[in-house]
Amino acid sequence: SLVEYEDFAKMEMSVAGFAPPKPIKTFQQCGFDAQLMAAISKAGYERPTAIQCQALPAALSGRDVLGVAKTGSGKTAAFVLPMLVHIMDQRELDKGSGPIGLILAPTRELAEQIHKETRKFARAYSMRVSAAFGGLSKYEQVKDLKNGCEIAVATPGRMIDLIRMKACTLLRTTYLVLDEADRMFEMGFETQVRSILGQIRPDRQTLLFSATMPRKIQRLVADALTNPVHITVGIEG
Ligand code: ADP
Ligand code: MG
Repeated sequence: SLVEYEDFAKMEMSVAGFAPPKPIKTFQQCGFDAQLMAAISKAGYERPTAIQCQALPAALSGRDVLGVAKTGSGKTAAFVLPMLVHIMDQRELDKGSGPIGLILAPTRELAEQIHKETRKFARAYSMRVSAAFGGLSKYEQVKDLKNGCEIAVATPGRMIDLIRMKACTLLRTTYLVLDEADRMFEMGFETQVRSILGQIRPDRQTLLFSATMPRKIQRLVADALTNPVHITVGIEG
């Protein structure tokens, strides 16, 4: 179940990395505009969860984020809300096609959940969120991506397919999220993830979330993130 701010003190929460920003305690402190605040209330979010308290200000300040947290900690909003702010700043500058924000997740089910959650907030700005994972027709996905979208939620395999089919380029991508990175690697997606990383400009903002930190993920962090704010959340047992 969800970890509330009240439980913050009871949690093994640690922050590392160069000059981590001060955590926020309320969504009001994030500087979101009225439209986004309305979407947050409409979603029923009253207070940020522990990981949101630390990841929101870090991501909003443009820092890379490494979040080590278990399921149910509220990771999606932690990376989606700053993504929307980033895109609002970026989309006037770059009217090209292809997603500005890309979210990679290990399975279709997880990608679907993230897609649903992202759309709740993206609606505030009428942003298009395209879905690129199995179970949906590739034809529809190609059409969707070619029509232009600001955000794509994808599994690594399907993303590679769509790039190969020239349905999508990542030339405009400046905000990348690797969600459940350990599971992506367990499922054998390391090559695909690294290939996708190689197609995104290196000066992007990168957020990586993982429940565990095996050696392979530590290497990925070293390769893909720059000076990240490292957040660990979880009641250790
Ligand atoms: P995780 O990815 O860490 O497993 P999710 O982002 O899927 O967690 O969030 C888990 C559930 O908690 C979702 O139903 C989500 O809508 C809800 N949730 C997330 N943040 C908040 C919040 N600040 N207040 C209330 N509900 C929240
Ligand atoms: Mg999640």
